[in-house]
Amino acid sequence: KLRNEESMRRKLHNTIQELKGNIRVFCRVRPLVGEEKAASSLLPLSFPDCDDQNEVELMQSSENALGKSTSKTFPFKFDRVFTPESSQNMVFDEVSQLIQSALDGYPVCIFAYGQTGSGKTHTMQGPDSISASGMDDEILGIIPRAVKQIYENTSKLAERGWEYTLEGQFLEIYNETLQDLLAPSARSTQASDKQSKLEIYQDSEGHTRVKNLTMVTVDSAERVNWLLARAADNRTVAATNCNERSSRSHSVFTLFLRGKNTLTGESSTGVLNLIDLAGSERLSSSGSSGDRLKETQAINKSLACLGDVIAALAKGSRHIPYRNSKLTHLLQESLGAGNSKTLMFVCVNPSPASTQESLCSLQFATKVNSCQIGTARRQAA
Ligand code: ADP
Ligand code: MG
Repeated sequence: KLRNEESMRRKLHNTIQELKGNIRVFCRVRPLVGEEKAASSLLPLSFPDCDDQNEVELMQSSENALGKSTSKTFPFKFDRVFTPESSQNMVFDEVSQLIQSALDGYPVCIFAYGQTGSGKTHTMQGPDSISASGMDDEILGIIPRAVKQIYENTSKLAERGWEYTLEGQFLEIYNETLQDLLAPSARSTQASDKQSKLEIYQDSEGHTRVKNLTMVTVDSAERVNWLLARAADNRTVAATNCNERSSRSHSVFTLFLRGKNTLTGESSTGVLNLIDLAGSERLSSSGSSGDRLKETQAINKSLACLGDVIAALAKGSRHIPYRNSKLTHLLQESLGAGNSKTLMFVCVNPSPASTQESLCSLQFATKVNSCQIGTARRQAA
């Protein structure tokens, strides 16, 4: 009986998730912060009054050849739009069901896309430096909230016989090279020399793994604070300018959730990937050279590749170009499995100075989002 109830619960949850679409896009416009507030010009973004809270409009003003100013309005629609007033709580409310899916054994990817300063890290993680104590919980982003939810739910699921083990890894992809953010030795000299080479490979069961990467057993919700602190520490050591570095690399936090039901004998393996992408600002190749040029090309290429992979998946293409970037190669299994769930946050800076970048981000996200229509059609046929 328990077995039936349990599988009914999972089925129902999954059906609801599928109705919402396996590829979803949320837009989040952050509030003005710091000195931005003082500049009192008209903001380019507005939110039409609609019940579904899923529309946003961007107004672009420009001067024509005759010196006359004109403006163009671009309307966008996503699965959900979060205004600057939306709290971390409200955002997580819309994410928590996906976290439950990972517990139920599904592969889940949640991405934050957007230009540097658009709120990606705030959304995924929370404030830059997470101090273990004395912090207002409201400010926490998706990673700590997800882990907390997972712990609360595993203790509930324990009553139904489920026992879970959680293992985490945290890596950074910089210039198409993987870096272990949980490696212990980073504080000592020449961390990068000491790190063994990380390589993506397929294990005997066909799972995508990374050779030499640190895996940490996440045995309490508090453990995640330790883990984020170590990652932050490793980043600081690795970079002369930490912010600059993190804006030019992808960071990928992965939790493997293995469940066994001691009463029914069922088992499940879910994967939760939480990805803070490199800044999407269009970096022009002209004018840069050497390392900078290589870096720029790597970012442009891997973000474009991510868009291509999601588009190909949604179209049901035969060939999915996972191998074109380290990021998509790493996430191949999670993105490609038939039952996988993908959510992309497109993060937007509301400042007038960012209008052009915001437009590009919203257009990229639309490309990802319109894939969903393709999926829906395909299913209906
Ligand atoms: P990114 O990671 O995209 O470069 P950040 O997450 O670091 O951007 O955000 C840039 C700045 O804006 C930070 O100071 C951050 O604290 C602030 N910020 C971002 N989103 C919000 C938000 N929803 N509410 C309040 N402040 C925010
Ligand atoms: Mg950031």
